[in-house]
Amino acid sequence: MSTLLDTTAEEPELTTVSRLRVSHQSEGIDLDEAERAAAAFLSALGVATDSASLKDTPKRMAHAYAEMFSPRPFDLTTFPNDEGYDELVLARRIPVRSVCEHHLLPFVGIAHVGYLPGKGILGLSKLARVVEHFSCRPQVQERLTKQIADWLDEHLEPKGVGVVIEAEHTCMSLRGVRAVGSNTVTSTLLGTLRKDARSRQEFFALTGMNP
Ligand SMILES: [Zn+2]
Repeated sequence: MSTLLDTTAEEPELTTVSRLRVSHQSEGIDLDEAERAAAAFLSALGVATDSASLKDTPKRMAHAYAEMFSPRPFDLTTFPNDEGYDELVLARRIPVRSVCEHHLLPFVGIAHVGYLPGKGILGLSKLARVVEHFSCRPQVQERLTKQIADWLDEHLEPKGVGVVIEAEHTCMSLRGVRAVGSNTVTSTLLGTLRKDARSRQEFFALTGMNP
């Protein structure tokens, strides 16, 4: 899998609004092969798929996983920070849906994503799209948190970035220790949010977390 970045700055001599097309290319999804493999997988687990209600299950499994591994492309639109806004911008409770790479079971939760603007500010909905971009693949929560923060740091060049994810892992709640309702919290702080205690406190206070 690879992340494709295709910069198409719009008339940079007239405006400094920039647009970055972000899309994700998987190694190639073969739905027919995935359906055959799902049927074989179920059969190996003793689940017969010859009844009317289960006969399309392998196909549905293939489509469901293909969808979970295919983030929607989006344009990362950045605007010049003309007003010199230098306070924290924070999007709270962004839904997170991903799949743990160890068990291929879903983990679901919320992300708080914030940044201290530098020269550019970002269309607000784009923070959620960045979360989706990195969630739609087999993941571990720690890496997902860091990838979102690093990506924003690289593309927005803010003074600081903070990402917190709280999620329930079904591989922990439905099997193994069966810790229903337990949450895993991960965070990545970069720049001023990492170095400056007051900024860090403000970030965690606004996310509703106690550092
Ligand atoms: Zn797992």
